[in-house]
Amino acid sequence: MAKKTVQKEDFTVEKGAFQGPFNCHGKTALLRREMHIDGNTFSYMVWSCRKCKKDYLDSSQAKRMELLWAVEKLLKNEEGIKRSINHDGKMFFLRFPKEFTRGWKKGNEAEIIPVDSTTFIVEIG
Ligand SMILES: [Zn+2]
Repeated sequence: MAKKTVQKEDFTVEKGAFQGPFNCHGKTALLRREMHIDGNTFSYMVWSCRKCKKDYLDSSQAKRMELLWAVEKLLKNEEGIKRSINHDGKMFFLRFPKEFTRGWKKGNEAEIIPVDSTTFIVEIG
């Protein structure tokens, strides 16, 4: 299997790797780490080398890290577009601005991932 390695900060992301442990200086060990974003603490798991302390991410860990990096970027840098939230008597809903929906198709589904009670990641697929 061809491995595509992406370097991001101190991590080696093993794209397409099914699961750890990885081999570095011997087998890596599963460790819990924390990331602090805007006063919130998020935990994530890494495969870490006991000797050189290098961290490796398998594909599911990499997906979580990518979400955390996206949240960090949004909370720190990005300006959003304000929208009012509508209510139909039962449910809340909002409209996405046209600028964000290019490439969306009828029948796409949205996966809503809560970060906390006021912050969500919506993945369209
Ligand atoms: Zn190592």
